[in-house]
Amino acid sequence: MMKYDYLIVGTGLFGAVFAHEANKQGKKCLLIDKRNHIGGNTYCEETEGINVHKYGAHIFHTNDKKIWDYVNNFVEFNRYTNTPVARYKNELYNLPFNMNTFNKLWGVKTPREAKQKIEEQKGEYKDIKPSNLEEQALTLVGKDIYEKLIKGYTEKQWGRKATDLPPFIIKRLPLRFTYDNNYFNDKYQGIPIGGYNKLIEGLLDGIEVRLGVNYFDTKDELDQLADKIVYTGPIDKYFNFRFGELEYRSLNFEHEVLDTDNFQGNAVVNYTEYEIPFTRILEHKHFEFGKQKKTVITKEYPIEWKQGMEPYYPVNDEKNTARFKKYYGLTKDHENVIFGGRLAEYKYYDMHQVIGAALVKTRKELNKND
Ligand SMILES: Cc1cc2nc3c(=O)[nH]c(=O)nc-3n(C[C@H](O)[C@H](O)[C@H](O)COP(=O)(O)OP(=O)(O)OC[C@H]3O[C@@H](n4cnc5c(N)ncnc54)[C@H](O)[C@@H]3O)c2cc1C
Repeated sequence: MMKYDYLIVGTGLFGAVFAHEANKQGKKCLLIDKRNHIGGNTYCEETEGINVHKYGAHIFHTNDKKIWDYVNNFVEFNRYTNTPVARYKNELYNLPFNMNTFNKLWGVKTPREAKQKIEEQKGEYKDIKPSNLEEQALTLVGKDIYEKLIKGYTEKQWGRKATDLPPFIIKRLPLRFTYDNNYFNDKYQGIPIGGYNKLIEGLLDGIEVRLGVNYFDTKDELDQLADKIVYTGPIDKYFNFRFGELEYRSLNFEHEVLDTDNFQGNAVVNYTEYEIPFTRILEHKHFEFGKQKKTVITKEYPIEWKQGMEPYYPVNDEKNTARFKKYYGLTKDHENVIFGGRLAEYKYYDMHQVIGAALVKTRKELNKND
């Protein structure tokens, strides 16, 4: 008899939700992670009494009451609302594009004036059939918004000129004709009080976890331990890159402790000019309304992904999507392995979405086994 029902590779949200639900039904689980902490990319490290989002800003938001209630079973959420600010040279603008942004750009005060101004700006490009991202953005919002708030940021994010990027990257650019700086439209939003680790610790309460264990170092031995495997690592790696690598965009995070209690007055400030090499500065204390004496900031530098780097954003273009489908095809011959999460499904998932996906897969799996 196997020692465990499930060996779960990865302690991110997918693995943690699966483990919690399986454990609740009396299944014995072992989780492993190659990192030396639980939580995957939601992990927070405490510095100067501040929860530092080690892998970039994580803001929980959802419209799904069931998912909101689910996470609130494990930790209480605060009232944090994401209201990022964009900095272009020395000018500051509210995001997402709304009446505050338009007022700062053009001095317009009413929605009617703002709409008129945008139509005027777009008008110049009305006969263009966009063949690249720059043309696409110009036809959607015109020159001022594009040049000050989109161009440099996007070029840094993708590491390519906007004229070399395909137009489909920007399908829509929502414009809001109210003075509302709340970035998300979702009904529920917040940050776990005490940080995301509380959520993961709650999910994994009473379940065995081994850290600093890379599945592939001792795969054969580990596979012997459980009836089934839940794999949340990169799918191409599982199949030994048989069809080539799936591509990602990656990020470098530069964390700094500053001897000041308030550096930028907001959790997230986007730097939209190309000449500044990072895209954002996060000031973590503002996610939890911290009153600590010092502050911790993180500069985010987008970088080209290479083997060995952290894979953050899947590049879901035609080439990679086709390659992923080939890998996905192979999973059918691995009936005792459940592939899930952003790396195994090669999909950009927000937290609420990965929790939803894990709950669906878990229920399917556990009901099947009943
Ligand atoms: C920069 C950034 C910002 C984000 N911001 C937000 C946000 O504001 N709001 C939001 O809702 N979502 C956000 N997300 C998305 C969120 O991080 C994901 O939805 C969530 O982390 C996905 O969970 P997961 O379990 O699929 O993957 P992960 O969190 O990546 O967990 C996978 C785990 O598997 C482990 N693993 C991989 N390979 C192996 C191996 N061979 N052996 C052992 N362990 C292995 C990894 O170490 C990792 O811990 C953001 C993502 C990024 C990258």
